[in-house]
Amino acid sequence: MSLSSCDLSSLAPDYIRAIAPYQGGKPIAELAREMGLQVEQIVKLASNENPLGISPKADFAIQEALLDIARYPDGNSYLLREAVSQKFNVASNQIVFGNGSNDILELAARAFLSPDCEAIYSQHAFAVYPLVTQATGARGVVVPAKNFAHDLPAMLAAITSKTRMIFVANPNNPTGTLLGKDELFTFLQQVPKQVLVVLDEAYDEYLSLANKSQAIHWLDQFDNLIISRTFSKAYGLAGLRIGFGLCHASIADMMNRVRQPFNVNSIAQAAAVASLSDDDFVERSYALNQAGMLQLTQGFNKLGIEYIPSFANFISFTVKNASAVNQQLLQNGVIVRPIANYEMPDYLRVSIGLFTENARFLEVLEHILKSNG
Ligand SMILES: *Cc1c(COP(=O)(O)O)cnc(C)c1O
Repeated sequence: MSLSSCDLSSLAPDYIRAIAPYQGGKPIAELAREMGLQVEQIVKLASNENPLGISPKADFAIQEALLDIARYPDGNSYLLREAVSQKFNVASNQIVFGNGSNDILELAARAFLSPDCEAIYSQHAFAVYPLVTQATGARGVVVPAKNFAHDLPAMLAAITSKTRMIFVANPNNPTGTLLGKDELFTFLQQVPKQVLVVLDEAYDEYLSLANKSQAIHWLDQFDNLIISRTFSKAYGLAGLRIGFGLCHASIADMMNRVRQPFNVNSIAQAAAVASLSDDDFVERSYALNQAGMLQLTQGFNKLGIEYIPSFANFISFTVKNASAVNQQLLQNGVIVRPIANYEMPDYLRVSIGLFTENARFLEVLEHILKSNG
């Protein structure tokens, strides 16, 4: 039998073919090619990256690690495991390392989901939850959001005998909403023990002291809790791909069985160790983000633009003809993120950048809105 090339996709199971491809932020070089712009003219505020770059300590560690890249990385991330164990006060067998925290989400799904079970996530929640769920053949159950935030009581009510996993993003991307600590704790108390809760805390470093997650202290009480953290956001290591999961040792064991032995490269491991030792860089990143949040929200207020109050390093705002405004921003060298694929077609998401980048974005946006009338 011979298949013509257009039939080859039918070789994949239906649940794979049903996956909607992930739409990331447009790379700077791509926009430069498309619009005939210089790379230096472009401001990218589309992927929640750290505008300060990386810690100088990480920079130094990367240079050093480069000298040894002919060797395979340490498949157990020993030094990084020690560093995370000390910093977060968890046992070393409770830590799983991933090629970005997306890898952690995927390892959890691959270890625990199968075609006969269900995973629950919220409407407007991070796009990777449906991706990793559907790739296993499990059924994704979307629970309507409430005021753009996770509706935890409704998520509890959606649990069936087939539910194996619940994804919760806190703060959530792309809405920036935050669940209260008491609310989250009560939720965890009510989730049946045989249902795993994946708590994605990619933006925790951007929370104020009062809002910071306490979930790591809850690991002793909730054996079904998996906390996911990343070095991609406040630590600035998005391009190196490194994140980690914290959970009960027996869950970590299962996730490690489906993990590729060398999923985290040696440069990422070295950079992450150094990053954890540089609190000053994280504090500066936090302070810059606070100032940028104020700058952007004041700018939105001045322009009469509605936005969803955010606890992270980005803000989703609504404008008339969002898709057209996005095109106009691109033409002017400003990259933000359209979020129609999150069922928010009237919104755009802007990442908080440097003062000058935020100012440029606001200036171009004001100009576009005035010219559109
Ligand atoms: C950016 C982001 C991540 C981080 O992904 P990495 O794979 O670690 O780069 C995880 N979860 C959410 C909700 C995010 O927005």
